[in-house]
Amino acid sequence: MSEPRALLSSVFGFDSFRPGQEEIVSAVCAGRDVLAIMPTGGGKSLCYQLPALAREGVTVVVSPLIALMRDQVRALREAGVSAGALTSATDEAEAEEIFSALDAGRLKLLYMAPERLARAGTEALLRRVRPTMIAVDEAHCVSQWGHDFRPDYLEIGRLRERLGCQVTAFTATADAETRAEIVTRLFPETPEVFLRGFDRPNLDLVFRPKDNPRAQLLDFVNARRGQSGIVYCASRARTETLARALGEAGHSTLAYHAGMEADARRHAETRFQREDGLIVCATVAFGMGIDKPDIRYVVHADLPKSIEAYYQEIGRAGRDGLPAETLTLFGADDIRLRRAQIDESLAPDERKEADHGRLNALLGLAETPHCRRRALLAYFGETPEDDCGGCDTCRERPELHDATEAAQKAFSAVLRTGQSFGSGHLIDLLRGVRTERMRERGHDELPTFGVGKDLSKAQWQVIFRQLMGLDYLRPDVTRHGALRLTEAARPLLRGEAGLELRRDRLEGAARAVTVAPRALVDEEDAALFAALKARRRALAEAAKVPAYVIF
Ligand code: ADP
Ligand code: MG
Repeated sequence: MSEPRALLSSVFGFDSFRPGQEEIVSAVCAGRDVLAIMPTGGGKSLCYQLPALAREGVTVVVSPLIALMRDQVRALREAGVSAGALTSATDEAEAEEIFSALDAGRLKLLYMAPERLARAGTEALLRRVRPTMIAVDEAHCVSQWGHDFRPDYLEIGRLRERLGCQVTAFTATADAETRAEIVTRLFPETPEVFLRGFDRPNLDLVFRPKDNPRAQLLDFVNARRGQSGIVYCASRARTETLARALGEAGHSTLAYHAGMEADARRHAETRFQREDGLIVCATVAFGMGIDKPDIRYVVHADLPKSIEAYYQEIGRAGRDGLPAETLTLFGADDIRLRRAQIDESLAPDERKEADHGRLNALLGLAETPHCRRRALLAYFGETPEDDCGGCDTCRERPELHDATEAAQKAFSAVLRTGQSFGSGHLIDLLRGVRTERMRERGHDELPTFGVGKDLSKAQWQVIFRQLMGLDYLRPDVTRHGALRLTEAARPLLRGEAGLELRRDRLEGAARAVTVAPRALVDEEDAALFAALKARRRALAEAAKVPAYVIF
């Protein structure tokens, strides 16, 4: 066996290991099954590549993206390592070359696309080759409930069972549930687990409520002209409109989403990788496998779906270790959209509950008045001693405002109207606005009518958003987003608990009185909601359920 340290410099050209790499490499070289969780950019590839070179035989690497495999094979070959990839993009000549290198015992790393594993002949090939180890990159793709699920990854466990070789798995996704799923699906018994620190001190963390999302995005990007950045969007349509808007403001931009042709996607990836100062407006389809060290910022133009997703996406910024910025914009419509996506998914109920819980955790992070970095790390089980001093909430510690009474008023408006209305109508009710619907329903006769006149409409919107964010109120997707109380709201309603919300958010809203009612919603969001609404109406019709559209 070659000395890992020597290989580190002779093959990879690095003078030292990154934190965690050395421990992982030595466990892998000792033949143990390993699950390594390291942040994006932490240097996971080396943790299987180096042991592959240090030992006899072939290592099979399973990786979800062809582009990623190709890049790694190219880099390995340039470093003089015999490596190859069998994917749908491999032509016959190349495959022949790989097979003969395998038969001659020369090949050290064989990358395989997951869909290749189930193919006829693959098992026979692997039996002949007798790999030393199967290394599974982006191992969270085996999790059936994650957004990167790749059904073919399930084949890995079956192959491992038949081949009986060492397995190692690598991911940046850290939540306990996904971790447990990886262990049960890939390993015969509990592997050695390495969990490396999640703090990325060079990343600045900022969350802002949406007041005028497009202007907020433009302000941010305009102030960073010439820097490379990613703007994550919740829908394909939005990647295109935002890319256009940024382009009109004189930035060099590209849209990217899974609906684009493979060629166009590859072209976008290559341009982003090579050009300076390009901004990619993308869905979450963009990023896995992007290895650009100098991404200076990541903006979430819409709320991500969980802290895991958030962390992985912001983690693409500042891999060179230099300061990089992140900005996350979120509004009540994002919350409604995310809840609707969860409720409309085909997952079983307990999974939907878990997903609501994950979204709640993210919203808690969004609204935290305390050190945001600590809140983020706490989610991953890390408990730093001190506040970081560098995130938005540390720089400007938000004051708290006792919102118990406002929350109680909101809850009673919800209850008195039969938990059948969205925030728009409820806010009108609280503010004593006699709309036609109000009169039709006789809601202007309710004792709650007009009890919330002391707050503006914008302030009530903030309160409702925070109540939704804290999961006291939850939009019911089967009833057009009608808000209902969750169990968590009961103690507050009974006066057994109090509620403090961020004062700055309320004051900001008080200043923003001129904001048009739909300014909180972007056109594409509105279109998306209209589509959801229409679909629900059609579903209700089909099921002969009386459908009344409320929001
Ligand atoms: P991950 O898969 O964990 O996201 P990668 O394996 O793609 O991370 O590595 C991220 C970057 O760090 C790559 O550019 C890689 O070359 C570099 N890198 C990895 N290990 C080291 C090291 N020990 N010293 C310096 N750079 C490293
Ligand atoms: Mg990687």
